[in-house]
Amino acid sequence: MSVRVRYAPSPTGLQHIGGVRTALFNYFFARANGGTFILRIEDTDQERSHEEALEDLYETLAWLGIDWDEGPGRGGDYGPYVQSQRFELYRSYAQQLVADGKAYYCYCTPQRLDALREEQQQKKSRMQGYDRHCRDLTEEQRSAYAAQGITPVIRLKVPLEGKTTFHDELMGDITRKNTDISPDPVLLKSDGFPTYHLANVIDDHLMGITHIMRAQEWIPSGPLHILLYEAFGWDPPKYCHLPMVMGKDGQKLSKRHGSTAVRDFRRAGYLPEAVVNYISLLGWSYDDKTEFFTREELEKVFSLEKINKAPGVFDYKKLLWFNGQYIRQKPAEQLKELILPYLIADGVLQEPITAQQQEVIDRMIPIIHERLRLLGDVSEMTRFLFQDIPTAESAAFIPKKLDMKKTLEILHTGRQMVEQMDGKDDAELETQYREAAAELEVKLGDIMMPLRVAVTGSTISPPLFESLRLLGSEKSLDRLDRAITQISKEVG
Ligand code: GLU
Ligand code: ZN
Repeated sequence: MSVRVRYAPSPTGLQHIGGVRTALFNYFFARANGGTFILRIEDTDQERSHEEALEDLYETLAWLGIDWDEGPGRGGDYGPYVQSQRFELYRSYAQQLVADGKAYYCYCTPQRLDALREEQQQKKSRMQGYDRHCRDLTEEQRSAYAAQGITPVIRLKVPLEGKTTFHDELMGDITRKNTDISPDPVLLKSDGFPTYHLANVIDDHLMGITHIMRAQEWIPSGPLHILLYEAFGWDPPKYCHLPMVMGKDGQKLSKRHGSTAVRDFRRAGYLPEAVVNYISLLGWSYDDKTEFFTREELEKVFSLEKINKAPGVFDYKKLLWFNGQYIRQKPAEQLKELILPYLIADGVLQEPITAQQQEVIDRMIPIIHERLRLLGDVSEMTRFLFQDIPTAESAAFIPKKLDMKKTLEILHTGRQMVEQMDGKDDAELETQYREAAAELEVKLGDIMMPLRVAVTGSTISPPLFESLRLLGSEKSLDRLDRAITQISKEVG
């Protein structure tokens, strides 16, 4: 039996870390087994489905390099793969269940159901939810309701006794008493729309899905889905509910921890390789040491057996570190292409890029290559090379524990050293700066810091000597002079 799996998002919001983890696990599992990966759009909740969410889904999957074998835009033998285009089918299957005595028409009005809920709450009644009022209506009662013009919903007949078990590959058997399952959930709404449960089960069956890998939040639906498979007389697929994704504080990952929308990571300058690699480790591991996997490798080695029971912990810092590692692996030429859009979007450069700017870019690449952790940081790191920067506020120049007067002295000394720096290498410069520091009775860092502020205006620029060389002594001296003038005025 060849593996068929699916990612079945509801387009109600942006793709987040958890959803993409589900997509990746299904995708890798299919690839590793020579199976088929299906994308199915579960847009049965038309009120909450959004065009923007759909666009985001396609963009995100394309960015991550996840392609599907069957689904929207790809076709396949089991389409359409968008649930809103399958409503006829759900309706006829639901009606079939009614004909088979496994489901029934319910004519209760929203008013009746509201009143029922209120009564149950007031009486703190043990019985919560639908009271199965219409489960055993006679033919005459039904016709009478129909004559009133009430369009019924279709509800599943949940057995009144017994238990239902579903087997999860990871968690083992999960059993629930049928009396604990929601009393006769709606399968088809009165407007003819299916509920999630109905559409999901029918599609998984008709699309020949062999394994369902999805978030743990769906475990409570498991027994109900098994009852639906039984009602239809179908064999259920294998289930594997994926471990939770948590923040470092042990709480379910959410916006409280930071952005979880993959789009935000893309925009900030994460590389898809890093994101794919890191997300794949959220609840899966190959062994207890290997951390780096290319997509191609994951397509070979991914297996269900190595999914962990323990939750995955999403650590923003770790992802950032991964990203830095992946940036380092990029060839210089490619890095150049990757950072250019950020420099342009942030207004550091305008197109067309001049030959002189090209040259600066070429020279700065090897220096930022080692330091960049996010592509988006390039702008703050290198703005000073392309644009004149306003002199910072005087306070920003003063090293800790020193004062304005000392800072001015430092800037003067620094200026002299910058004037004579051409041709000196880092080691020579460092010796010289150390000597100057000793003479001024300050720390080495106290000399570097004000110079750096004067020349780059930024705290995340490359190290001082590199920055000075990249900018050139003429511009560097000019900026130093402006800083000196400004601070002299304050010292008086
Ligand atoms: N549409 C559901 C979701 O958004 C799919 C759940 C499932 O995989 O069965 O998560
Ligand atoms: Zn009813």
